[in-house]
Amino acid sequence: MSTTKRSLKRPLVFALAIFAALLFLFLDIRVVGDDPRPVGSAEDIAALAERDDLNVLFILVDTLRAHHLGSYGYERETSPTIDALAGSGARFAKHLSQSSWTKCSMASMWTSLYPARSRITRYEDALPESAVLPAEILQEAGFRTTGVYRNGWVAPNFGFAQGFEVYERPAARSVGQDVRRENPTVRHGGSDDDLLHATAEFLDVHGHERWFLYLHFMDIHEYLYDEDTARFGTGFSDNYDNAILRTNVVLEKLLQYLNEKGYRENTLIIFASDHGEAFSERGLEGHARYVYPETTEVPFILSFPFQMESGLEISTRTENIDIWPTILDLLGLPAMEGVDGESRVPELLAAARGEPLPERKRPAIAHLDQNWGQRQRSSAPHIALVDGDMRFSYTTIQNEEPRLELFDASEDPDELENVIDEHPEVAERLSGLTRAYIDHSPEPPWGDEAPPLEIDEIQLNQLRALGYQIP
Ligand SMILES: [Zn+2]
Repeated sequence: MSTTKRSLKRPLVFALAIFAALLFLFLDIRVVGDDPRPVGSAEDIAALAERDDLNVLFILVDTLRAHHLGSYGYERETSPTIDALAGSGARFAKHLSQSSWTKCSMASMWTSLYPARSRITRYEDALPESAVLPAEILQEAGFRTTGVYRNGWVAPNFGFAQGFEVYERPAARSVGQDVRRENPTVRHGGSDDDLLHATAEFLDVHGHERWFLYLHFMDIHEYLYDEDTARFGTGFSDNYDNAILRTNVVLEKLLQYLNEKGYRENTLIIFASDHGEAFSERGLEGHARYVYPETTEVPFILSFPFQMESGLEISTRTENIDIWPTILDLLGLPAMEGVDGESRVPELLAAARGEPLPERKRPAIAHLDQNWGQRQRSSAPHIALVDGDMRFSYTTIQNEEPRLELFDASEDPDELENVIDEHPEVAERLSGLTRAYIDHSPEPPWGDEAPPLEIDEIQLNQLRALGYQIP
């Protein structure tokens, strides 16, 4: 090679290297935005348990149906901030809530027990003092714990305040002139903006300590939105989407605040919901009546104190009862004993390492007592068992045989066509498991005064197939 050629080539290589470096820097800046977190790895996830500086922010958005979020495949742009949280963290793509009614669902989430075991299925039910809740474990580990809620179903009289140093409704401030509340259920007024004020108040006092903050958002349940910024029309489900968009803006402000105050790099954020919402898919609107997918497929997103360059997707079936076993495992804290949920840290690490996810071996369960609000009537459970793509539905009907249905999501993504006659063996197996769940679920870890039931070996095997730890 002549000297002339070499001297021509060197500057070219140099220029290309500079260009590549600038491009990388540019792309990196675009990924990071004003998010201060460093980029993390599977090893950083595994090492969270060793950290003693980690805070926990639990964002519970009431009545948030997964399918109405961009990151869960919705065509409308309702949720850019939530999607960004998922895109730089971990998104559980097929996630089931345990009920479609707040109290029942939240009791299962906090106790990591299916409703038949938590026994919080009726209007008058409350968690006993002897139940061990995650906030108690965090408090014991030295976290300052505060819960701020705007839904009366998680009020202290139902046992939900256990482990919280402070557990209260936020002060209700007046809402803007252009705010509409289409579905008013909260007598206390205010809006989720009040949670921002409560957060700032809490962190001003305890921000320098290790903290756990639970914020229970309620605006979407109320279809509360700003008329000025609403962009999705005026129908029932349009206004629901307008409310999601408004909640997204509140969350954006919350994250911005955490960024500015320097909390993002030492805070684990959990984003979850208690149930979804129906829009007449089966003739009914709202929630707390059935446990079909519209009201039980919910988001679950984790945001780490670092960014995962491309968000992790956990595609195996998970449930709200898995949330706290996963969080306690991530934090390296003692597990809750004798519970139904499982840590999904193995799935998170497998996804982060690009390895195949562990296979799920048992069905997931959702449950609602359709008579939860009627003290004089006996229980009438609607149970759904989700096993792979199959969803078995068992509906109690007064003075009649229960209605049994089977839906196949692989053929019918909206799960509206009952294919029970085409899969008799699947239906029979899932029907047996449903009966075992209803009739013979073990007592909760905190015990029970009711006499123990006599059950045979077949029933014991059915309970084991549901994942109960029975010797
Ligand atoms: Zn709710």
